[in-house]
Amino acid sequence: MIICKTSAEIEKMKESAKIVAAVLLKIEDIIKPGITTKYLDEVAEKIIYKRKAEPVFKGYLGRLSDVPFPSSICASINDEVVHGIPSSRKIKDGDLVSIDVGVKYNGYCGDAARSFLIGDVSGEVKALWKATREALDLSIEKCNIGGRLSDLSHAIEKRAKESGFSVVKDFVGHGIGKDMHEDPQILNYGPPGKGPVLKKGMVFAIEPMLNIGKSGVKILDDKWTVSTKDGKVSCHFEDMVAITGDGPIILTRL
Ligand code: MG
Repeated sequence: MIICKTSAEIEKMKESAKIVAAVLLKIEDIIKPGITTKYLDEVAEKIIYKRKAEPVFKGYLGRLSDVPFPSSICASINDEVVHGIPSSRKIKDGDLVSIDVGVKYNGYCGDAARSFLIGDVSGEVKALWKATREALDLSIEKCNIGGRLSDLSHAIEKRAKESGFSVVKDFVGHGIGKDMHEDPQILNYGPPGKGPVLKKGMVFAIEPMLNIGKSGVKILDDKWTVSTKDGKVSCHFEDMVAITGDGPIILTRL
């Protein structure tokens, strides 16, 4: 069941979303070659606690893992798609680093992700990054009352294909509210005009994951990190979007 939020609830969700956005802006500011993803996790966690929020990913038990996620952010590098565990591994020049942040504040969740290009990256990776960002924006444009859920999915796949990239099919965007993962699941592919009709008050976390190579992914031995099967680079962006009478409102951009 898709839970529609009242305007008052969306105001509360804006607060959670703002905390996530602030963490991502801080990371954008400090991310560079030589620092570790563990350091980014520490910085993020400090901001989250300082703002009296809770890092939702920490201790999270996923549908695929019986091991609680150990960190406050996910940090996924290059061929890692999502759910990378922060570690003492250093970020290098030429890397694409995806950072995903989830919080709970005042009873409502916030969730967003950005991919960062570190130093001198290849033209192909730059194109992937641009296509993923644009896929997210094109999908957000479809978040209008009376539209259909699969319009969002189709917009993502269409943009990916235009640049010759594939989309990850095993992981999806989602509704968000009091819970981090609510209905519906938002696929990153499919024909338009299908699925539930979009209504005022729906709030979605839309998260395109685009691959340079094939769409297949695997889960690593840590039981969390998702990487591409073919070892080629993947890119991930995510924003929270509220469907309102005034059109889509992106909650996780300041
Ligand atoms: Mg998400």
